[in-house]
Amino acid sequence: MRVSVVGAGLGGLALAQGLRGAGIEAEVFERDPGITARFQGYRLVLNPTGFRAVRECLPVRWHALLDEIVMDASAEQLILDPQLTEIGRLGAGRTGTVVDRQVLRHLLLTGLTVHTGAALTGYDVLADGTVQSRFAGRDPARADLLVGADGVNSAVRGVLSPRTFPTDTGVRFVIGRTPLTDEFASLDRAYGSKITGDGVSLLLGAMRFRTPPKEAAERLAPEVSLPDIGDYVRWAMILPPNGSLESLSAQDAVLSRMDGWHPELRALVEQADPDNSTLLSIRVVEPGQRWAAGPVTLLGDAIHATSPTGGNGANTALRDADLLRRCLVKADEGRQDLLDAIDDYERQMFEYGTEAVRNSLERLPAFAPEATNS
Ligand SMILES: Cc1cc2nc3c(=O)[nH]c(=O)nc-3n(C[C@H](O)[C@H](O)[C@H](O)COP(=O)(O)OP(=O)(O)OC[C@H]3O[C@@H](n4cnc5c(N)ncnc54)[C@H](O)[C@@H]3O)c2cc1C
Repeated sequence: MRVSVVGAGLGGLALAQGLRGAGIEAEVFERDPGITARFQGYRLVLNPTGFRAVRECLPVRWHALLDEIVMDASAEQLILDPQLTEIGRLGAGRTGTVVDRQVLRHLLLTGLTVHTGAALTGYDVLADGTVQSRFAGRDPARADLLVGADGVNSAVRGVLSPRTFPTDTGVRFVIGRTPLTDEFASLDRAYGSKITGDGVSLLLGAMRFRTPPKEAAERLAPEVSLPDIGDYVRWAMILPPNGSLESLSAQDAVLSRMDGWHPELRALVEQADPDNSTLLSIRVVEPGQRWAAGPVTLLGDAIHATSPTGGNGANTALRDADLLRRCLVKADEGRQDLLDAIDDYERQMFEYGTEAVRNSLERLPAFAPEATNS
């Protein structure tokens, strides 16, 4: 069996790794000109399902490395005012495993065939049941299955399910990261907490690797090359709808809402790494109608993009990757017809994917109260 995976995000790469491990030929096609072409590095909290899924997709010999480049999520979530005084509790925090997206992506890339600068423009299902993908600026590729793991603006979805498209919540999200130096040690209780003021929320999260990723790879799996990054604080500000911030840099957009805030909080944003700070819109994709069964399917944000406030987008994309991997292994071993295997995957994925989007939208007003009125 040959599989074309479009999109080298976490979902597409996890699937390709899982298929490679099972001896199934998988090629990845990525639109970006290179793997580190743009902002890619934020911290993600994986729940036990998401973490188990990515682990299952990776070769066992890399499990020790995976365990070394993560940290445990803290359970405490406070609500603080801009002077860092506790004014409430958010309830039980997210427990699980914290990973850096860029580091995990590098681990997942190892050993795969990934074609960069390969933007899918369309595809054709051929008479023999195979599918031919078309790309801007490179030759078409033929496979038994095309998997659109190409994110919220999915070009694959545009053909497969044209009436499913992203909805803009109007809420903007600025995210950045700052090296975790001694200067910010006193902010410790704010990590994992929400700081509210002036109609905005600032969320802080520490990324403390058990071992620095590059060092861990050199020691535990020398064939893997991981980025040389140290501990950092991820800060994220959710901005209400209708602000006009397009002309501001990510940092300035946040600082413009932090007049009079605790000097260490301002310093944290001021000292951010500008290459890893960006302004994003919160858009969601709700899975609509199932399409007719065939050799094309979708996974991850391409079919169920959640609001980051749900903290479940990557978890769901990884769950998809592991589930689809298992279904395709069955088909490859002749235990099930390929189209039935894809149907099994899609039936389950639609159910929990719809639920994931709903959960994330329910959590949005807690971070952006005005979002409900937009
Ligand atoms: C700031 C932030 C924080 C988050 N925190 C969490 C968290 O704590 N927990 C959690 O579970 N989730 C979190 N998420 C959500 C999570 O990051 C996403 O849901 C997840 O990365 C989606 O993975 P994916 O593989 O489906 O898509 P993506 O990671 O978006 O990958 C899609 C890939 O497809 C490529 N592509 C697009 N179009 C084409 C094309 N035409 N041809 C070829 N390639 C194409 C893109 O360049 C990209 O590389 C967060 C998201 C953000 C933005």
